[in-house]
Amino acid sequence: MTPKLAALYRRVDELRRLWRVSMCPIDPFLICDGLPDVTLREFPFASTNMNASLVACEDGGYLITLNSRRTLREQAFDCAHELMHYALHPRGGISDSECEWQADQGALELLIPRDVLLHRIDLCRPALTGSNRRRFLSAQANFFGVTEAVFRRRLEQVHSESRGLHW
Ligand SMILES: [Zn+2]
Repeated sequence: MTPKLAALYRRVDELRRLWRVSMCPIDPFLICDGLPDVTLREFPFASTNMNASLVACEDGGYLITLNSRRTLREQAFDCAHELMHYALHPRGGISDSECEWQADQGALELLIPRDVLLHRIDLCRPALTGSNRRRFLSAQANFFGVTEAVFRRRLEQVHSESRGLHW
């Protein structure tokens, strides 16, 4: 793991403690409910390319808008991504590619903590053959409350970080 990623994971760990979320599945909508300066709303965006937005309001609060055309699980990741911008990049700078990287990687670590994922891979490893592998992806995505696409992305990423990890 690169020092940059390790630093980001430490920061996400601090945020989990601050937001009092320790048990998976981690519910980003509930985190928003617990933040007095964050308002969450949904809106049918015209473009499906736009998933969500974070706006810093004049009153000092923040507005997270999710695209109501996306599924609840897609919205969960979108919401986690905007929460990362809120926590890591308050008041601007969110179009920068470094910030986007942090928001994406931070959201993955928030919803699918690396340690929890590694532990679950270990538990399931003996059964991970053939069609069970397909069921594993689906069951774990359900467990973490994310889409299979997000879970698969996370799995591949953790896999590439941890040389020697076979699943
Ligand atoms: Zn972003």
